[in-house]
Amino acid sequence: MCCVVRASVSSYGTTSFFRPGKTPCLVCLFGAELGGNHDTCDTVGVIAPVVSIIASFQVAETIKYLTGNVEALNDALIHIDVWGNEFRSVQMGNPRMNCSCCHDRQFVSLQPNSDSLTVSMCGRRTIQVRPSGGFHLKLDEMASQLSQIGHVRHNAHLLRCDFGDTQITLFADGRALIHGVEDEAIARSLYARYIGM
Ligand SMILES: [Zn+2]
Repeated sequence: MCCVVRASVSSYGTTSFFRPGKTPCLVCLFGAELGGNHDTCDTVGVIAPVVSIIASFQVAETIKYLTGNVEALNDALIHIDVWGNEFRSVQMGNPRMNCSCCHDRQFVSLQPNSDSLTVSMCGRRTIQVRPSGGFHLKLDEMASQLSQIGHVRHNAHLLRCDFGDTQITLFADGRALIHGVEDEAIARSLYARYIGM
């Protein structure tokens, strides 16, 4: 079993071909706490060329794997920024022996309700989303991102973004109040789309 990670946002993208037991996993590389400020396609956009390039790497690696040419696989993490004219290829090395994911088999990301919490605020058409992990958001950076989609006001403690019939109140610890929404799944979707999860 294997997987290809692809992320294309703005003008940059990252891809690698992960093979459990053969290559490090994301937790090996970045640690278990992946929370924080994340650009998303909805907040900063994405230009088409980088999507095509990253997808091409992804498909080429998959063809190698499916045809049994594993010796040709690229075991590096590739990062490309077509606007900044950057191409980086970083060797990933071996899986970490003490990795909680690929060594201890704790798949926290597959258990979205284990620590994250979504609560409907009674009678207010408001859903509170509290993501798992140790978030510490930079609200001024989030304000800049979210100003692409709506009217934003913020201070040192919270941020408010109004767009359409929906408002998001966001706190530095990652907690958000999604106003104008009654469905918790929609609230989580909006959170992932505009803030990142
Ligand atoms: Zn790992």
